[in-house]
Formats: sequence, C-alpha cells, structure tokens
Amino acid sequence: MALTFETVIGLEVHVQLSTNSKLFCPCPTDYVGQEPNSFVCPVCLGLPGSLPSLNARAVQLGVKIALALGCSVPRVSRFDRKHYFYPDLPKAFQVSQFGLPLAEKGAMPIFLGGLKKTVGVTRLHLEEDAGKLLHGTPDGRLSGASITRVDYNRAGIPLAEIVSEPDMSTPMEAREYVLSLRRLVRYLGASDGDMESGSLRVDVNVSQKCSDGRVGGRVEVKNVNSVRAMERALEYEISRQREVLLSGGQVYRETRHWDDSNGSTRGTRGKEEAQDYRYFPEPDLPPLVIDDSFIRAVEKDLPELPWEKRERFQVEWGLSSEDASTLSERLDLAEFLEETVAHGAGRGSAANWVKTEVLRILNETGIETDALPFTPRSLGALLAKVDEGSLSNTAARGVLEVMGREGLGLEEAMRKAGIVPGGVKGDLLTEAVREVLQGHPEETALVLSGSDSSGKKRKYLQGLVMREIKGQALVGDVSAAIDRELDLMKGFRE
Ligand code: ADP
Ligand code: MG
Ligand code: ZN
Repeated sequence: MALTFETVIGLEVHVQLSTNSKLFCPCPTDYVGQEPNSFVCPVCLGLPGSLPSLNARAVQLGVKIALALGCSVPRVSRFDRKHYFYPDLPKAFQVSQFGLPLAEKGAMPIFLGGLKKTVGVTRLHLEEDAGKLLHGTPDGRLSGASITRVDYNRAGIPLAEIVSEPDMSTPMEAREYVLSLRRLVRYLGASDGDMESGSLRVDVNVSQKCSDGRVGGRVEVKNVNSVRAMERALEYEISRQREVLLSGGQVYRETRHWDDSNGSTRGTRGKEEAQDYRYFPEPDLPPLVIDDSFIRAVEKDLPELPWEKRERFQVEWGLSSEDASTLSERLDLAEFLEETVAHGAGRGSAANWVKTEVLRILNETGIETDALPFTPRSLGALLAKVDEGSLSNTAARGVLEVMGREGLGLEEAMRKAGIVPGGVKGDLLTEAVREVLQGHPEETALVLSGSDSSGKKRKYLQGLVMREIKGQALVGDVSAAIDRELDLMKGFRE
C-alpha cells in the first residue's frame, strides 16, 4: 500500500517590541541608519560591574500581546541566562525567560477561505536581542568576506518570543498564522511587525508522520526572512523529508538554514538541547512580579482585536467574509471606516467606498489614513447624500476627487464640482434629456421604433444624459425623464 504523510508545523516568532529604550538599559532603540556601536552603554555591551534594570514598557507590551492571545500571565516570572558563544552576544549569554515565562497557554484564531481554525500558543516570553555581524573587506566594502565587524546597536533591544503549538499542517496555515500575528501586534501598537527590517522573525519547525507509524525528527529552519520564504522553505522541507522517509531513511532532528537564492535548506549543526545552554536564573534581576492591577490596566488598554472586528463586520454589518477581512486588515483603515459610518454613511456604502476609493489612494500613495486629504466626517456626509438618493455615485466620486485634490470640505468641494444643491431635476433634467435625444437622432429613432431590443442604444443615451448633468441625478429619475420624452415624441409622430 502506498505510504501517506501528515505534516506537523510549529512556529517560533520573535517580535521586536516598540519601546523607546532597550530591555535593560536606557539606550535608544531607533538605531536604524545610525553609526555602528553608537547606541551602546556598559549594560548592553556586557561590561563587568554593570547592572541591568528592566524596562516596564516592554513588560506592558509583552503582557498586552499575551492577554490578546488569551494567555494566562502568572504572578511571578523570571529571567534566565542562556549561554552560547557567538561574537554578536557580548556577554556570551542572552538574558531570556526559560523556566517561568511571562505568559503561557493561549490561542490564536486563523482564517482559511472563511473557515476558522485555532492555533495554540504554548508560551510568550521576553528576551534581549543580539548584535549584528557585518561581514566585509577591510576597506569597508561589504563583500569579499575577509573580515567581520560587529555592531552592538541592536544588542539589548526587547523581543517577545511567541511559541506556537505544533498545530499547523500546511504552509498555507503557517502563512495565515504569521500574517494574523503580524496584524495583531500592529493592532496593539506592540511592534511594527515588519519582516523585511527584522522586527518580526520566524523560526519554522516541521516534521512528518508516516502512515506506517514512523515519525520523522523535527527540523528547525532558520533564516526565513519573508512570508514567501517561509512558505517556500516549508514546501522544500516537506518534500525533502518525505523523500528521505520513502527511501527508507531517517529524518534526524536538526537545525537547517534556508538559502533563498537556491531555494533549498542545508544542515548547519545538530540542535542544541536545553542543557547545552546551561540555563540558570539571572542573578542581577529580581523575579518579575505582575500584580492584578497591572494586568487590569493593560486589559483596559486592549483594542477590539482584529479577529473580533472581522467577525463583527461579517455578522453585524453583513459584509462578505472577503470584505470583512480586507477592511479589518489595518486598524487605521477599519477605524476610518467606522468613523465614516458614525458621520452618517450607511455601513454598506461606507464599506464599498473605503475598500475601493480609499484603499486605492492609500495603496497608490503609501500614506496612513490620517494623512488622507479628506476626513471620515466629510466622506460620511458625502455618502449620506448618496444613501438618501440626493447624489449619484458618479457625482459623489467627482466630489471626492475634488476633496482629495484640493483638500476642500464637502460643501466647498460640491460647489467646485458644479453640483447643484438637491441635484438636477424637473425642467433642468428634461432639458438635458431633450438635448441628448435631439443631438442623437439615429439612436433615438432606433429606440422609438422598438428595434433596440438589447437596450444598448437606450443605455448609451442614458449615459450621455448622466454625463451632461455630471451625474447629479439618480439613475431611476433619469430613466423616467427619458421615458417621458420618448412618449412625447411617440405621440407627436402618431
Ligand atoms: P526549541 O528551543 O528547541 O526551539 P521551543 O519549545 O522553543 O524549542 O519550540 C519548539 C517549537 O517546535 C514549537 O513551535 C513547537 O510547536 C514546535 N514543534 C514541537 N514538536 C514538533 C513536531 N513534532 N513537528 C514540528 N514542530 C514541532
Ligand atoms: Mg526556541
Ligand atoms: Zn545600553
């Protein structure tokens, strides 16, 4: 019988917490683009005699993520020294949390094709980042790898490590998990979640279960620097491990390195076991005690979570699963949408406009919603007019364009766009219809003779009228006015 396989995936995600200073010293964290080793002090350089002191803001942000993930936060957690020798680690140990992490036992919902799945979160702990090695030539060119420099600006930056349960079984699920976690930390203002700049880093664990009962060892893949790279690395590893098992071999537990240009992984070293790190409690830091009032204060600061918002958009607002997902992706966009509704727009039309017009501008310009040239207030008022039927979609789009281009409020923009208060109706509308019909005698004759069976000509004439009045009437009203004129003309001919 042919063998079948099951894939088991668990992820360890490091997120850089958005603090102003490092985890154990006052050095600033906005080191990008700065002179190497300019944001350092005796503490983050690990000089003898220096003493760490814990950054409260980092604890706050760590607890915030933990609570959002439904983790329990024990009253006491502890920092430990994790020893390994590597030149980016000046102390030759990293201060992390091992035995008593900040938080444990949470879960995160992910959505695949509208279906919800829950991925368990084993633990969340705080730790300090290491420095960065720069390989290059003596004259400073970063190629030719003849010397290595070290920059400690990043050493001591606070990280939260979030360890998932091995609950995922496809690269797609892993992708959704990472995207959901990134969305969450951004919602919480806990991290910028940017994978390119290294604010969010993923270690991938993957193994195979074979239908004949054999179980492959867990392989941890390092150096995946984008969501795409993670998916490719997983696909590669899954087929590599299956081939090994199919040929009767064994998959050993090891750490492998993803090579993005080759599209393959290679073995690096056997996996360190906990005892290799010689963990022991950090003697320079007291146990971290988190009391109820601290938890309550962080809880009060929690926004509606992305998956809650998504569900509300779907269930209460009646949006499609796809729209609910698009509109809850970014907190600033979701808030813009909700404020637009608060200022008079209907939920449906606000959702439509935000996901098309507003999102298009944001994508084209790369700005945040607070830099948009119009406010939710003016968009809300504009859409209220569309909803009540006093302004057509076409006219509204014209007004929005003027608001955007010239930064005008609704009233002024409407004037500038040539919008007649109350829209074009009555004699003005009749006049516009007449003008168009008289200007297009052939099409009009066709419609009158009843040979416009597809209705194409009639639609064409209607479009011309709309254009003539700059869209300032409802389609139904224009259509009725055309009917009236055609009837008149028929009567005239008979
Ligand atoms: P380590 O320090 O060895 O990396 P952690 O406990 O920090 O160990 O992380 C272990 C990770 O491996 C978790 O994300 C977990 O879900 C995942 N994992 C555990 N068992 C398996 C398995 N059989 N296959 C794939 N991933 C696994
Ligand atoms: Mg780990
Ligand atoms: Zn420092």
